[in-house]
Amino acid sequence: MDYNKSYLVISVGLWTGIVVGIIGALIEIGLIVYISIILMLGSLVQAFIFYKCPNCKKPFNIRGKKPKYCPECGCALE
Ligand SMILES: [Zn+2]
Repeated sequence: MDYNKSYLVISVGLWTGIVVGIIGALIEIGLIVYISIILMLGSLVQAFIFYKCPNCKKPFNIRGKKPKYCPECGCALE
């Protein structure tokens, strides 16, 4: 998995997790809330592993937008 896919998984995973978590809390089904937490944790964990510069392997800031250039080595990113 490259950083582009990883970024997609973070954004989709986190938002899906939040939405599913809210739904689970509203209809009071604990299992759905657990699934949403696992979903969010899963997308964060993969981000720590895969969301980094393909050139220098420096991890990107997952809270910001996807950078155009690596802040560490200046490598141009797609
Ligand atoms: Zn870099």
